[in-house]
Amino acid sequence: MSNTTQYGFDTLQIHAGARPDPATGARQVPIYQTTAYVFRDADHAAALFNLQEVGYIYSRLTNPTVAALGERIAALEGGVGAVCCSSGHAAQLMALFPLMQPGCNVIASTRLYGGTVQQFSNTIRKFGWSAKFVDFDDLAALEAAVDENTRAIFCESIANPGGYITDIPAVAEVANKVGLPLIVDNTTGTPYLCQPIKLGATLVVHSTTKYLTGNGTVTGGCVVDSGTFDWSASGKFPSLSEPEPAYHGLKFHEALGGMAFTFHSIAVGLRDLGMTMNPQGAHYTLMGIETLSLRMARHVENAEKVAAWLEKHPKVEAVTYAGLDSSPYKSRVATVCPKGAGGLFTLSLKGGYEACVKMVSDLNLFSHVANLGDTRSLVIHPASTTHRQLSEAQQKAAGAAPNTLRLSIGIEDAADIIGDLEQALAKL
Ligand SMILES: *Cc1c(COP(=O)(O)O)cnc(C)c1O
Repeated sequence: MSNTTQYGFDTLQIHAGARPDPATGARQVPIYQTTAYVFRDADHAAALFNLQEVGYIYSRLTNPTVAALGERIAALEGGVGAVCCSSGHAAQLMALFPLMQPGCNVIASTRLYGGTVQQFSNTIRKFGWSAKFVDFDDLAALEAAVDENTRAIFCESIANPGGYITDIPAVAEVANKVGLPLIVDNTTGTPYLCQPIKLGATLVVHSTTKYLTGNGTVTGGCVVDSGTFDWSASGKFPSLSEPEPAYHGLKFHEALGGMAFTFHSIAVGLRDLGMTMNPQGAHYTLMGIETLSLRMARHVENAEKVAAWLEKHPKVEAVTYAGLDSSPYKSRVATVCPKGAGGLFTLSLKGGYEACVKMVSDLNLFSHVANLGDTRSLVIHPASTTHRQLSEAQQKAAGAAPNTLRLSIGIEDAADIIGDLEQALAKL
C-alpha cells in the first residue's frame, strides 16, 4: 500500500507494507521462505551491493515477508523506516550499534525491563560500551549525567514491570538540548497507545514478541527511525556521517538522508551481527498486528477493571497501574498514552515474598510465564525470575521489589480474571 499517511491506524495495521503478491495475486503477505534471490544479471547484482538499487540479495539482510512487517510497524509508529530483527534484545543492540563506539555510553532509565538492565549493565561492556542509569523523573539528573562520550538516551514508554509512564516530551526536550538521539522502547505501550516519535523520540524499539504479535508464538524485534535526527551535526556519529569502512567508505547520512540509519542497520548491522528475523516469524507477527487496536483496547479495559478491584483488596498493599487515580503517573496518560495506560502493572502483597510465591502457584487462569502481552493473562514474580540477577536496590529501583507480582492482563472476560485473583488471594 502506498501513500499510507492518509489512512487511519486501524487501516494501516491491516494494509501498510502489504500489496497483492505481484507473481500470484496472493492477497495475504506470502511467507517468502527463501534464503537468496536470483539477480537479473551481473550489473543488477553490483547495483544492489552498492545500494544504488533497492532489492533483495540474501535473507540475512532483507526478505519480502520481513520487509512488509517492518514497513507496517514504521507506518504505525510514524517513522520513515524500520528494521526487523530476531528479538527485542537484538533490537536494542541494533539501535545502539550505529551510534556507539568503544568508550561511549548510553544514559538509561532505572525503570526498565530486567533483561535490559542486565544487557546494559554487563553485556554491552564487552563491546566497550557502558550505560549510566538515572531516574528519568529527575530531568536535572538526566541532563547532568550526559558527558562528551554519551551517544544516546534510552527509556521505556510504559515501563515494564510497573507500568510507570515516562514523560517522553520532557525527556525529548533534554535530548534535544544536549543534541543526542532519544531511543524509546515502546514494547508495552505499542503504537496504538503511545507514539513516541510524535512526542520527540528519534528511534523506537520493540520486542514484537509481546503485544505486536499478541499471541505468544514467536520472538522478534524492530527498530523504527523517525528520520529526523541530524547524524552529521555533532561529529559524534561517524558510522553514519563519515566514510563507513565497514561498507566500502559509504557516507550513509550524505548518501541516504533520512534513511541513513535504516540502511546502515541492514547493510552493516544485520549483515555483520546477523540478528535476523525469519520470514515465518514475521508471518506470525503480521497476523497478530492486524488486530492490534482491538486487542489493546480490551487489554486496557480489563486492566482498568482488575487494577481498580485489586487496589481495594485488604491483602494488597499497592497497585501500580498508571490508569488509577492513585497513581502519580495518571497525569501523564493524556499526553503520553492517550488511549490508556496499557495492560501491565504490578501489585505488592502485604504478605511479602512468601505470599507472592504462594499466589503464583494458586492462580489457575493466569499462566506463570516470563512473557507479557499475550491474549492470555500472565503472572510472574520478578524478584525470583526476570529481576533475579539484580541487587535488591536495583530491583526496587526497577519497580520489582521482593513483595511484588507483575500481571499482564489478557483479553479474557474481566470477571473471570478477577475471579481467579479472588480465589488465590483468599488462600493467603
Ligand atoms: C520482553 C522485552 C524486551 C526484550 O524482548 P525479547 O523479544 O524478549 O528479546 C525488551 N523490552 C521490553 C520492555 C520487554 O518487555
